[in-house]
Amino acid sequence: MFLMQKLARTRLLFVKRDVVAAATCTALVGCVLLFFLGVAVAAEQEGRCTGPSEVAVVYEDASELDAACRAVADVRGYFAGIGLEVPSKLAVHFADRAGADYKGHATAHGYFDPLRSLVVIYRLSDTEPWKQSWSPHLLGSFMRHEIVHLAVWEVLQGSSRQLRREWHEFIAYALQLDMMNPDLRQRILTAYADIDPAKDLAEINEFSYGMNPQVFAVMAFKTYRHRGAAEFVRRLLNAEIIPPPFSYPFAVQPHEVQR
Ligand SMILES: [Zn+2]
Repeated sequence: MFLMQKLARTRLLFVKRDVVAAATCTALVGCVLLFFLGVAVAAEQEGRCTGPSEVAVVYEDASELDAACRAVADVRGYFAGIGLEVPSKLAVHFADRAGADYKGHATAHGYFDPLRSLVVIYRLSDTEPWKQSWSPHLLGSFMRHEIVHLAVWEVLQGSSRQLRREWHEFIAYALQLDMMNPDLRQRILTAYADIDPAKDLAEINEFSYGMNPQVFAVMAFKTYRHRGAAEFVRRLLNAEIIPPPFSYPFAVQPHEVQR
């Protein structure tokens, strides 16, 4: 009997200890969750750029808001200069990586979503584009790249003619380098001094883009400058210049390849 009582008491003690341990554990996990939730809520905020257009920015510190507003203003100014408009309502979100809801194509630096007039830019990158270490100037330039995509997409909406993807990239990269911090651009041009402008516009094609986007970007920028810079882009977007059709050097064309 005594033994039975002792056993029961011991088991009760164990049960009590488990309950206390479980409660402590739950409380700890709760505290940790609350802590991170608190940090996330405190860190991320939403603001707007000053001015007539509606630019919503999700950012963590004031320098990000400032960088986003300057990027939008730069692209808007560029397009106004060639008589075209950037969507008046758009959003720029800073993020650590692509959100779980994003199913499309994201680069190492961010992406744009034309259906939501949204540009998402990643704060950090583990790549070294054009052999340059990641910096606020590079981030700002990729932000402009994505905003240019959004603007081009908007301009071509309703147009009877669409540009092929590599031409979208041509314009985004050319304008990215054009609006880039001049010292950074010079370092890139020095590192890629052996890249020449395209002699023929047929050299702008999905292969030259796909094989090496960074070389393509420099080639695009040099071609753009060589052919009249902003005026060249204006004529491209107004269908005054039609990129030549590209004839594929293979019997099976890319869209026929089974993936
Ligand atoms: Zn792009």
